Amino acid sequence: MTREFQAQEIIRLIEEKRDEYIKASDAIWSTPELYFREDKSAKVLIDFLKKEGFKVDEGVAGVRTAFVGEWGEGEPIIGFLGEFDALPILSNEAGCAEHKEVVPGGPGHGCGHNLLGVGALAAAIAMRDFVRDNGYKCTIRYYGCPAEEDGWGKMFMARAGHFDDLAMAITWHGGAAPTISGTSSLAVISCLMTFKGKTSHAASAPHLGRSALDAAELTNVGVNYLREHIIPEARVHYAYQDVGGTAPNVVQDRAVLKYFIRAPKVVQAKEIAERVKKCAIGASIMTDTEVDVQFISGMCEVVQNDVAGELATEALYAIGKPVFDEEDYAIAKKFYESATEAEINGFLGRLTTYDDPQKYKNEYLITDLAPYKRIEGRLGGSTDVGDVSYATPTVQIGAPTYAVGTPGHSWKITAQAACGIGHKGMLYAAKVMALTGIIALDKPEKLKEAYDEYVKLTGGKYICPVGPEVKAQYQD
Ligand SMILES: [Zn+2]
Repeated sequence: MTREFQAQEIIRLIEEKRDEYIKASDAIWSTPELYFREDKSAKVLIDFLKKEGFKVDEGVAGVRTAFVGEWGEGEPIIGFLGEFDALPILSNEAGCAEHKEVVPGGPGHGCGHNLLGVGALAAAIAMRDFVRDNGYKCTIRYYGCPAEEDGWGKMFMARAGHFDDLAMAITWHGGAAPTISGTSSLAVISCLMTFKGKTSHAASAPHLGRSALDAAELTNVGVNYLREHIIPEARVHYAYQDVGGTAPNVVQDRAVLKYFIRAPKVVQAKEIAERVKKCAIGASIMTDTEVDVQFISGMCEVVQNDVAGELATEALYAIGKPVFDEEDYAIAKKFYESATEAEINGFLGRLTTYDDPQKYKNEYLITDLAPYKRIEGRLGGSTDVGDVSYATPTVQIGAPTYAVGTPGHSWKITAQAACGIGHKGMLYAAKVMALTGIIALDKPEKLKEAYDEYVKLTGGKYICPVGPEVKAQYQD
């Protein structure tokens, strides 16, 4: 059986159900839900999996909207990761290059996760259809992964061991161009510090008060000094969640800080997080207040897997370039023209696997392919795909789902995630992912090599950024 035949079959299988996939992604797009509260979005995917004959385990890892769909039996087990959470305040009309909110101030799919969940679903179903009809034996899993933007669902799923028996995890993210991601990300730990003091009249009886706000401020001062004595690649940032009220003449009896501690490796982030915690404890001693430091969640850095990257590259080239039509280009042109020079340069700067990204400066959509390439040096952000990459060999496919110059996490992404550009990018990614899975089945020796590489880079054991006591944070 030739690779060409396999690619054509996968394309056919996905195109056959094209309308259903687009309908599902638009349904998720129309009810944007924030982290750990994606009940309606999860239901769209769960219902689809069940209709396709997958066995679905719902509410896994103690997270209401996390689920695992499974089909087949025996090894190898190939997993597809699908997200479906939205971002706050990024509501926008579909296909519209102007900022027109559907719901004023409402959430929106400003990272295109409506496409991610359905793209991975289409890949799992197409791979299943193909292996069933062509005499392969394997297990296919679809992981419904909530809270990628905040809360970080995959960490909870990885901690519960859900990825441990996978031969390979395949995922994707919509973005600039058809390629295979070669960059890592920073590990991160998030923590909340709650300070408790005593109110008092700030002028007539300040000696009777104990200021929680002072404690919070001294914590930040301490962390500012700490920065000199941690590795330069680390990033520590904070925000006040509660300043203890608005009155200067009342000693503040409460204050809450939220910290993000980032580092290239999860073990480094853990070590720095403990030192940040000591700053808070020190500040509480100094101010005679109390502090409760709670680690909320965390993410490992992404561990690139060269062997998995090469398997996906083979799939990428067998599927070929994505195709957009005139209407897509007309819409993309509008978004391109709305971008600033800095946004276009920033966009092209993220094309790390391309040899000459500047040549796309005047293009509206990028359809040229670029192979996997390990990129040294890391991206500034973090993703919970990192936690999966600490549990099994993982590969992340990239597909164009928006116009050149579109900034990340923006209403412009929301707009493009529910029109032809997003839909076609999603179906394209699904084809590359499904074929990656099939190539992996064809090359068991490569799967073994990918696993050996994973063990070499991670020690072969998931390292959870936080302790077992940490639970998913629901806000309702
Ligand atoms: Zn995203």
